[in-house]
Amino acid sequence: MYDIIIIGGGPAGLTAALYALRAEKSVVVIEKLGLGGQIALSSEVENFPGTMKMSGAEFAANLAAQVENLGGRIEYEEVVEIIDGNPKTVVTDLDRYEGRSIIIATGVKNRRLGAEGEEELIGKGVSFCAVCDGSFYKNKTVAVIGGGNTAVEDAIYLSDIAEKVYIVHRRDTFRAENRLVRALAERKNVELVLDSTVEKFVNEGGLKGIDVLNAKSGEKRHIALDGAFVAVGQIPQCEIFRDIIILDEGGYVSAGENCRTNVEGIFVAGDCRNKTVRQLTTAVGDGSVAALAAIDYLGN
Ligand code: NAP
Repeated sequence: MYDIIIIGGGPAGLTAALYALRAEKSVVVIEKLGLGGQIALSSEVENFPGTMKMSGAEFAANLAAQVENLGGRIEYEEVVEIIDGNPKTVVTDLDRYEGRSIIIATGVKNRRLGAEGEEELIGKGVSFCAVCDGSFYKNKTVAVIGGGNTAVEDAIYLSDIAEKVYIVHRRDTFRAENRLVRALAERKNVELVLDSTVEKFVNEGGLKGIDVLNAKSGEKRHIALDGAFVAVGQIPQCEIFRDIIILDEGGYVSAGENCRTNVEGIFVAGDCRNKTVRQLTTAVGDGSVAALAAIDYLGN
């Protein structure tokens, strides 16, 4: 029996573990894939206060080491269900854990475009992570699909590696911050393909290109590619909690800044919480708030 079961080993979950362990609570962190969540895929973290610059992977590794040094237990399993009760139960693909409280910190995952050929080409030319896979495309031709901060950052990052980068966006203005859009405009090897959607990822024993439709002109175009990076936003990983936890219309856990869900003793932290700003700083902020709320709950 644990005092706190933390589901998710990203910045929010690991920060919650750090705070809980320092308060001498028994803690297990259950992580499906690798520690660090989305930040582990970031090439550079420059906006974490007090840290000049480090890679996301380095940040995640440091945070995980801090948790392990305090005796935190980390299990690599996939949570499939939580059961409210006394104690609460977390069921994974391999085991069952009982705890007096739970912190949900499951984050978000990359949204698929849903275009023909996308799914079968994942890992064969279609990627969701420029930082992970960009180096495969040195002096090659790639496209980024999307118009948010991730897409524009990815296009800038890839323009230093690839010979040519297309950025395909469904509107004629970017959602990304102006400073990023300005930086993108300075890249000579980036071509904007605006008002356009990808109809098909062409598969000829691997990705050969994309078929694109311009929604305004009706023009269709084939772009030959070596790689395509899909960056069209994220979806919360909360569906498994829907039976007992109230989710908002976007599928995020409904909870205010106090990180308390509708169920006593179950808390939420990080990107999977309903909120407006999803940043590393707000994720670690949530982690500490959720842990302190759980500690308070245990004390009562
Ligand atoms: P996002 O801001 O939600 O942007 C998603 C982009 O994909 C939008 O341009 C959207 O188009 C487009 N899109 C969505 N569904 C689509 C579809 N079916 N077909 C074609 N295009 C589609 O997602 P994000 O860029 O991953 O960013 C997520 C969050 O992380 C944001 O809050 C962002 O600010 C933050 N972030 C911050 C940084 C940073 O501070 N450096 C870096 C990365 C991410 P529309 O614009 O037309 O809706």
